[in-house]
Amino acid sequence: MFDTVEISVQAGSGGKGAISFRREKYVPFGGPDGGDGGDGGNVVVMADESVDDLRMLKWKRLYRAGDGLGGQGRKKHGGRGEELVVRVPVGTMVLDKERQDGELIADLEQAGERVVVARGGKGGLGNTHFVSSTNQAPRVAEAGEDGEEKSVRLEMRLIADVSIIGYPNVGKSTLLAAASAAKPKIAEYPFTTLEPILGVVEVGQKSFVLAEIPGLVDDAHLGRGLGHEFLRHIMRTKILIHLVDGCAVSLVDNLVRVNRELSLFDSALGEKPQLVVVNKIDLPQVQVRLAQIRGAFKSVGTEVRFVSAVTGEGVVELMSEAMEMLGEVGEAGKRVPQKVFRPQPRVERVSVSKKGDTFVVVAPELERIIARTDMGSPEMQGQLGRQLARSGVKRALEKAGVKPGDRVRCGSLEWEW
Ligand code: GDP
Ligand code: MG
Repeated sequence: MFDTVEISVQAGSGGKGAISFRREKYVPFGGPDGGDGGDGGNVVVMADESVDDLRMLKWKRLYRAGDGLGGQGRKKHGGRGEELVVRVPVGTMVLDKERQDGELIADLEQAGERVVVARGGKGGLGNTHFVSSTNQAPRVAEAGEDGEEKSVRLEMRLIADVSIIGYPNVGKSTLLAAASAAKPKIAEYPFTTLEPILGVVEVGQKSFVLAEIPGLVDDAHLGRGLGHEFLRHIMRTKILIHLVDGCAVSLVDNLVRVNRELSLFDSALGEKPQLVVVNKIDLPQVQVRLAQIRGAFKSVGTEVRFVSAVTGEGVVELMSEAMEMLGEVGEAGKRVPQKVFRPQPRVERVSVSKKGDTFVVVAPELERIIARTDMGSPEMQGQLGRQLARSGVKRALEKAGVKPGDRVRCGSLEWEW
């Protein structure tokens, strides 16, 4: 069971290489000394213990790292663009949305673990790199490379807010199914499932994550068969729904036994608030002893609620009570998962229209490059060609029917195709 969010990440562009020549008093014909542009900053996703959910990420969808600075004269290289760190909860998986089936980039299991999701563009080379035997004073330098851009899906494993505990066959799976959309195995294999089964319970506008904790009887505290996921859920859970079977011979004894197991397993667990719930009140043999059951629990200082997981009686009330209690337990609603975000179609960033005989390209990325590049040199024209292909402008123009010899305009630049 996961909560997910999709974000766009854009690494910084590399800085432009400088075109510069030494101008010193006694060096009248100084050589080129244009420094390289700095590399663009990376976008990094990092697991952070202080982040509880993906909610903050749902407000902002574009994450952009800083651009590298341009190189300068005297072989001064531009500074690196600032790295951007997107903080996510521990246990978040990072997937590449553009790959088929969303390829897993990383599974951030440990606090502090990090992964680069978009790499910054390389800084452009300064004109010192373009010296050749035929050209001792090159007037060219490279523009910086664009930073990587990606759509990334973050998936966070949901951790239970409320866990149902109790003996086998008391109706935990049935209750979970009745309260949420989860489809647990009911009765079939009471002991086989040792992983908690989760469902999201909606109460009005809010929701919480409900888990069935299987196998918590007798020697459970010895950890037999209890997986990592199990521990994670039960330790993080805020409230326990302690379910008892209305048909059982001694309901109070069963409650005490399960609670003893809990405390032996971990003393903090024994202290978590519990809602004690008697199940199967639809059965006639349970109906006739409701008052007796209530009295028996009262005598040990426990208030009980009655439900039928099968007919649904009392289930909505129980879930409202759990929701209310979650609010009281502090950090009200902090772990309540948000509705799953449905991505909007990606905005096409390149468009081509025809004005008279000229194809006009609107491509902000490319315009940026054109604006800061000296297009007079063949080197730069080569680079522009590569950029055209990379940014999708070439494809868009071909789709619009451009033919060799046609005029094309993009930003301040007009050229022949
Ligand atoms: P779990 O082992 O605690 O998860 O128990 P299950 O949910 O698998 O239920 C055990 C058995 O009790 C199944 O046969 C269920 O159909 C039955 N059961 C669960 N809840 C109720 C209930 O409210 N009324 C009745 N009559 N049977 C129930
Ligand atoms: Mg079960």
